[in-house]
Amino acid sequence: MLSSSSSADKRALAKAARAVADPIDALLAAHGLRRTSAARAVLGCLLATPDTSYTHAQLQNAISSATDAPLDRVTLYRLIDRLTQVGLLLCRVDASRVRRYQAMPTSVRTMPHFECQSCHRDSPLAGASDLERAAQSAVEALQALGYKGLSMDVALRGVCADCASTQGLA
Ligand SMILES: [Zn+2]
Repeated sequence: MLSSSSSADKRALAKAARAVADPIDALLAAHGLRRTSAARAVLGCLLATPDTSYTHAQLQNAISSATDAPLDRVTLYRLIDRLTQVGLLLCRVDASRVRRYQAMPTSVRTMPHFECQSCHRDSPLAGASDLERAAQSAVEALQALGYKGLSMDVALRGVCADCASTQGLA
């Protein structure tokens, strides 16, 4: 299957080029999110301090002081929701039951996705949040036992609807 491996190489190169151009834009696009200035600011702020977890208010303050376009509370809530849903943010409840957010550590990035074996597009799996939670709690359980350097790739593979219809597989 020479042709499929070379197109996978090209796709990897294109992905790498985009990531070098702007890793934050690339992350947003790869997770199907709009590249708004607010989304860039939130993700940029969290990725710049990957070991810090913020409350909603702390995050709002950090972004307001880092940019000249402060975010309103509701916009920030919506963005946090979206970023958490796609697995870019990790949300934890601290000992005083306050939600805290941080950039998803790469060790626990368990975003389930679909890989089309025909066009090699990756897309996030809609409605797989149970699967994602299960995968994440498995990683966290192993980390609690002292396992290090964990990574996980949750992927479904097949032929996407677009390819199936053009190939008469539907
Ligand atoms: Zn396809």
